[in-house]
Order: sequence, then C-alpha cells, then structure tokens
Amino acid sequence: MQKQTLEVVPNEILDSHVDDGPPHPWDWPTAITLWSVHLGALFAPFFFSWSAVAVCVFFYVLSAMGITFAYHRLLTHRAFKCPKWLEYLATCCGAMACQGGPIAWVAVHRLHHGHADRDGDPHGTDKGFWWAHMGWMLSKPPHKLDPDLRTRMARDLESDAVFRWIDRGYILGAVGLGFVLLKLGGWPWVVWGMFVRLTLVYHATWLVNSAAHTFGYRLHKTPDRSTNCWWVALLTFGEGWHNNHHAYPASARHGLKFWEIDMTYMLIRALERIGLIWDLKMAPERAFQARPGDGGRPS
Ligand SMILES: [Zn+2]
Ligand SMILES: [Zn+2]
Repeated sequence: MQKQTLEVVPNEILDSHVDDGPPHPWDWPTAITLWSVHLGALFAPFFFSWSAVAVCVFFYVLSAMGITFAYHRLLTHRAFKCPKWLEYLATCCGAMACQGGPIAWVAVHRLHHGHADRDGDPHGTDKGFWWAHMGWMLSKPPHKLDPDLRTRMARDLESDAVFRWIDRGYILGAVGLGFVLLKLGGWPWVVWGMFVRLTLVYHATWLVNSAAHTFGYRLHKTPDRSTNCWWVALLTFGEGWHNNHHAYPASARHGLKFWEIDMTYMLIRALERIGLIWDLKMAPERAFQARPGDGGRPS
C-alpha cells in the first residue's frame, strides 16, 4: 500500500476548493439542529435513571461503531470486503449517529484526505481548532455550495439505490427511534438515548478532526498535522490513531503499536474469523516498525 493514496478516488478528480477561511455564511438548518440536540442534553440530570444511561451507552456503541466501521473504514476507504447485507446493516447503524447520510459523509471525508490541513480541506486545522471541531458545520464553506461534490467524490455509493435511500431517509429513521424510545422508556430514554448520546457521539467524532490533528505523537511523516491521540482513540474505538490512518488510509487497522488499542479493528477481525469479512487491506510491515517521533513535527 502506498502512502497518501486514496484508492477509491483517483487523485486527478480530488477537488480543490479555494477557501479564504472563516467567517462564512451561517448554515442555519444544521446550526439549529446541532444546538437543539445540545440543548436537549442539558436536561439529562432531570431525567436520570440507570436504564436511561444503559440505553445511552448501547446506542453510543452502536452508532459510533457504525461510523467508524461502516461510514469510515468500509464505505470511505474500502479497507475490507463483506456481504452487501452487512454493508447496509452497518451503514444504518452509522446513520443513527445523525452525522449526515453515508454518501454526503463519505464525500466530505474523501475531500479531507485529499487536502488534509490545507486549502480545500472541509475541516482543516489550518483554519483553527474550533473550525476543525465544529465551526465548519455551522457555516457554509465552499464544499457545501458545490452541487456536484457527492457525485464526484462518492460516485460508487451514489450509484447504489439502497445507499441513496439511506442517505435520504436517515433523519426519519432517527425520529422513529426517538418515538420507539419514548414508547418503551418515556422521556428519560429519549433524553439519554437520543440527545445525550448524539451529543457525545458528535464530539467524539469531531475530536478526530480537531484533537487528532493537534495533540499526540506522530509515527509517520505525512503532509498534514495528523497525530496519534490515545484519548480520542478510546472515545472513538480506534479512530484517534489518526496519523497512522493518514499515512495508510486504506488500512483496516489503525492502531499499529501494541498500546494502540483499536476496538474497530478487533470487531473487523472477529467478523473475519467467522467468515463475514475478507480481503482486509493492511499497512505494510515497515509501518509497524515506526516509533513515536519518527513522523517529526506536523507540516
Ligand atoms: Zn484527518
Ligand atoms: Zn479516513
């Protein structure tokens, strides 16, 4: 596997959006949605129950793992192969994180890899930590105004009717889940299972874009600021070993050292053992020999 290649999108079609940086116009629908979810989470102490916390943890694991296993390693980077039904099922789990439909998510993330921390990166830390964390979502940088982005960056998914269906309907699915939780456990399950859980998954994912491009160590020289950050890796089931990931984007395994615990890779290996996953892509042997600091300072 070569460094800095994104096999599913040839370099020549990676876009280059010229961006003068923030401030950009507000993206009101997204901003109001995100603020509402955070506001709902503030009610958590008034609706506390242990069953509600358990529901929160269950759906945190399911939706966050859906993001890292399906949206990221499977759909964006095609790091392994699995049956189509498992692709769709895992994608539905990722959609429960309400981070956008799979086609939009994949398009933006491929754009990030093509331009990490420089002009054209939708959430580069070159425009600041806050911007990389969530500022880019509250406003309208150039990529949001590009009507062809999805087709250009995620044509493989857009040609699939099921992915298009999930992409269009995931919000209805999330609202439906909210009603099911209301019916089964009342408002405590809704507040903890939806608002608290979504807020936690949001920030965990966003920390990959902000903290894992700022704090930690680097094993590999990459033309960006990506880092390996242990606490982000714990919160995101292995996604915090982000310098490894930028060096070898298509590798199914992100944690390369013995201390780099990668829960998503453990799941992938478990499913491989029972025959549900095959053709794993892996970083080359030399990647495992790298030591903290070998990646030098971020460029
Ligand atoms: Zn990154
Ligand atoms: Zn990636």
